[in-house]
Amino acid sequence: MSQDTGAEPIQSLPKAAREQRIIDLTVAGDKEGLRLFSKRTGTELKAVRAKARKLGLTPRVVKGCRLAGTHPKLRNCLRCSDRFLSRGRHNRMCRSCARRT
Ligand SMILES: [Zn+2]
Repeated sequence: MSQDTGAEPIQSLPKAAREQRIIDLTVAGDKEGLRLFSKRTGTELKAVRAKARKLGLTPRVVKGCRLAGTHPKLRNCLRCSDRFLSRGRHNRMCRSCARRT
C-alpha cells in the first residue's frame, strides 16, 4: 500500500468524527468521497451506507436536509443526553423526547 500523504488519517479519527464524516458525505451525495472513506477505513461501501442509515440518515431525512439546506449532526439530546441525529441547529432533542414535549 502506498502512503496516503497529505490526506488526513481517517482511521485515527475518533469514532464520532468518523460518523460525522459519513453523515457529511451522505448528505452531500459525495459518492467518490464515500468510496474513498470506505477504502481508507477498510469498510465495505455497503457497510458504510448501512451505518449512515443506522445513524438515522434514511433517504427521506437526507432529502429533507438537502431541500432545507441544513447540516445534520450527531448531538446529545438536551433532555436525556442520548446521542441522536440532529437535523440542524434547531433540533436539540431526540425523537422520543421531542414527542413527549
Ligand atoms: Zn432525548
